[in-house]
Amino acid sequence: MSVPAQRRTAAHRRRRQSHNALKHKSLTTCDKCGTKKLPHIACAVCGTYRGRQVLTAASVRQARNAKKTTAARPAKKETERK
Ligand SMILES: [Zn+2]
Repeated sequence: MSVPAQRRTAAHRRRRQSHNALKHKSLTTCDKCGTKKLPHIACAVCGTYRGRQVLTAASVRQARNAKKTTAARPAKKETERK
């Protein structure tokens, strides 16, 4: 295993980590019910997309439950390495 050629200072680490912050998700409002939702995705509350009903009551419930389970799941670890 290779050994780092030089010690990375705390300032170097902080400069690198200044780009690691998560960006806010841009949200739009649903045309039908007015709740906040992700753009280009059917509304999880009323199941409409661009004014059309695309999800049934059962699938709306399923989508809402799926959202809960993904939120409860721990975040993926960063695997990208140089
Ligand atoms: Zn809606």
